[in-house]
Amino acid sequence: MDYLPVFLRLDSRPVVVVGGGSVALRKVSWLLRAGAQVTVIAPELHAALTAHRERGELAHVAAEFSPGQLANAVAVVAATDDALTNSEVSWAARERHIPVNVVDDAQLSTFIFPAIIERSPLLVAVSSAGQAPVLARRVREQIEALLPARLGALARFMGARRQAVQRALSALARRAFWERVASGPVASHVLSGDEPGAERALARELRTSQLISTRAPARGSLGEVYLIGAGPGDADLLTLRALQLLQQADVILYDRLVSLQVLERARRDAERIFVGKESGDSGQQERIHELLVKLAREGKRVARLKGGDPFVFGRGGEELEVLAAHDIPCTVVPGITAALAAAARAALPLTHRRLAQSVTFVNGHQEESGAGDWRFFADPQHTVVFYMAVAQLPAIVARLRAAGAASAHPAAIIERATLPGERILRAPLERITTLAAEQRVIPPALLIIGDVAGFAPAEALSSIAAAGAVRAGAIA
Ligand code: SAH
Repeated sequence: MDYLPVFLRLDSRPVVVVGGGSVALRKVSWLLRAGAQVTVIAPELHAALTAHRERGELAHVAAEFSPGQLANAVAVVAATDDALTNSEVSWAARERHIPVNVVDDAQLSTFIFPAIIERSPLLVAVSSAGQAPVLARRVREQIEALLPARLGALARFMGARRQAVQRALSALARRAFWERVASGPVASHVLSGDEPGAERALARELRTSQLISTRAPARGSLGEVYLIGAGPGDADLLTLRALQLLQQADVILYDRLVSLQVLERARRDAERIFVGKESGDSGQQERIHELLVKLAREGKRVARLKGGDPFVFGRGGEELEVLAAHDIPCTVVPGITAALAAAARAALPLTHRRLAQSVTFVNGHQEESGAGDWRFFADPQHTVVFYMAVAQLPAIVARLRAAGAASAHPAAIIERATLPGERILRAPLERITTLAAEQRVIPPALLIIGDVAGFAPAEALSSIAAAGAVRAGAIA
């Protein structure tokens, strides 16, 4: 270990920064955030530093560096663009045993600034000991993505209740209590911005802990369910919250449409249970409900992972009803629904000022979509996205035509959007069924109709041949 990571309290303590440019500015900003009393030594100041000085946030000495300026400083930063000055600052500071950082020069520094992830009061610092700052920044980005934005709020929430919990619970019970608070329903509530909900969950945890510690049988469920949208398949299209919850779930219940790539982003040791439905198996949904309740009652954190968005043809609503009926806490995390992913991949805007003012998502299964009036769908200025459309394609087209859609009504099929083997097919309505049959389109695929399905910005035009041509998009 080349450096000992420590957190320095600089509140109201004098720090000298030599240099007045943009590099100095970055360090000054951090120092000011830590409450340091900053003096900048430089003949001239960067505009933003001048603004800090005018607001009285720092002192400025308009002069060249001289060692006497370091008297009293508890730390020094050399951030000039002159190597000689920087090394003079370094020598002067080291002679006086003052910690010094020379920007981008580990040799001349006795301390370095780490890359930090800030969720105050929680801080994570990353350093490569100056050997690979780019790598340190990459690690920071990865950690940044994993830590919920409201983690600081959670730390404050826990901090504010420390004393009360100290009084209420024995030392032995406390640790287990805080573990459950940090990773259970209380945390979920705080992290989604619901402090009153968190307060109620905390009271419940506290009661349970008191019951456990007096050896009475524990009542109430401590588990919870995360109803997570897994997006269309490409794992990079998961939301940050989905990723965070996948990292902490104990069990994952996933559907057929959830890609392997997405499952790989879950906690390594999490149990994975496939609950995809075989077609015609009407009892499966009930079995999923029972399993969700059973696992949560066992105190598990259950991730219910669904393709796309849980509330778009995903039966997420039904699962939410069951969980609510059993008083099991549930967090819903939206996902990118197939329509949005397919539209993006096909460069096909679902609404467009000239081409479409509204959009409807329809279940392509005739028997489920009911016998409603389709005349609205036949208007080419209205975009319609049919999910689960492959098997029903002839019937859908016939029904659209009967409702008044023209034979030239633009249509597109997007198969396996964002997944390997993705294909985008375009044709007018009268030819789309034949084209799909010729190309052997298989689920999952979407049918999109309306003027937007014929949309092609100038440069895309050249790659899309006459209507009816196939554009098979390869995925790297
Ligand atoms: N909840 C999901 C939809 C489930 S219904 C969502 O929000 O996306 C299943 C249908 O979604 C499939 O029949 C298909 O029409 C569509 N679908 C899901 N993933 C898809 C993908 N990657 N490409 C094209 N269509 C997809």
